[in-house]
Amino acid sequence: MEKICVAVRVRPPVKSDEDSNSNCSHWKVDDNRISLHRSLSGTPLPPALSYAFDHVFDQNCSNSSVYDLLTKDIIHAVVDGFNGTAFAYGQTSSGKTFTMNGSENDPGIIHRAVKDIFAKIDMSTDREFLIRVSYMEIYNEEINDLFAVENQKLQIHESLERGIFVAGLREEIVNNAEQVLKLIEMGEVNRHFGETNMNVRSSRSHTIFRMVIESKGKDSTNLDDAIRVSVLNLVDLAGSERIAKTGAGGVRLKEGKHINKSLMILGNVINKLSEGAKQRGHIPYRDSKLTRILQPALGGNAKTSIICTVAPEEVHVEETKGTLQFASRAK
Ligand code: ADP
Ligand code: MG
Repeated sequence: MEKICVAVRVRPPVKSDEDSNSNCSHWKVDDNRISLHRSLSGTPLPPALSYAFDHVFDQNCSNSSVYDLLTKDIIHAVVDGFNGTAFAYGQTSSGKTFTMNGSENDPGIIHRAVKDIFAKIDMSTDREFLIRVSYMEIYNEEINDLFAVENQKLQIHESLERGIFVAGLREEIVNNAEQVLKLIEMGEVNRHFGETNMNVRSSRSHTIFRMVIESKGKDSTNLDDAIRVSVLNLVDLAGSERIAKTGAGGVRLKEGKHINKSLMILGNVINKLSEGAKQRGHIPYRDSKLTRILQPALGGNAKTSIICTVAPEEVHVEETKGTLQFASRAK
């Protein structure tokens, strides 16, 4: 098991009617370190809190540099037969979806990964590839298929042949990047199906975009050459904000409890994995659907990265601290 690569990304302040800079907290990014400087009457004090990670991306960083520094190596390893998972963690509106899906001018990690995988495969002269993709959401601990709205409340099964899998999940065989990107677009429409407020559901569910890459050598006389199968998961997690803050009741409260629990279990699993193999002991994969689904691609010969997105505004300072603590535990 390799070290999990942990990064933090600070999004730019959201433009509001008031001067947005004036309500920004004093998070300073310096190389791979992020620190909170409390300021009194404009005079910065020494940092009160300071954290270092593998990478810290400031508000001027593009998805392109995030991809190059954080995800590219994972993508290349996946084509070579390793499993890989990249997560975006953070409170709602901190930039998770921007990082994973991107914008028209600056495509996100999913888009870049898909393009990169096909580019790498197209360059391979000695292997044949079969690529399958699927897209699912976990909402209130229920698994729904984003490629087929009728596939709801899917179950996780395990067999000798297939390992751990989501029964009934649609998998599409794909031949090029454009085809995958079209499918994802369709999945996004399904994700918001029946929603009045688009951002509500998407911030209350985890989504997993998955590519399964199978390959075998073209030289059929080489009997030592086994078929390779690897899995890539790109995960946009549900908002990590604590429920109390939203003053929610009923449906929102139930959602919040599921989210907090599954993110806590994810934190525990990652924390265990980042400890040495000896101290590790039992890893609680089975405690949530998210970690159970990702189990084969976490640990073992897997490459994992987490990008923790944070908002710069003063009102979010407590949530930002919480996110940085989650990130610190993952190191
Ligand atoms: P989340 O998915 O964490 O709820 P979003 O990705 O939807 O958050 O981001 C909230 C808003 O901030 C969106 O309008 C998004 O376009 C913008 N945003 C987030 N991160 C960035 C960034 N790094 N650069 C520019 N705009 C960003
Ligand atoms: Mg989002």
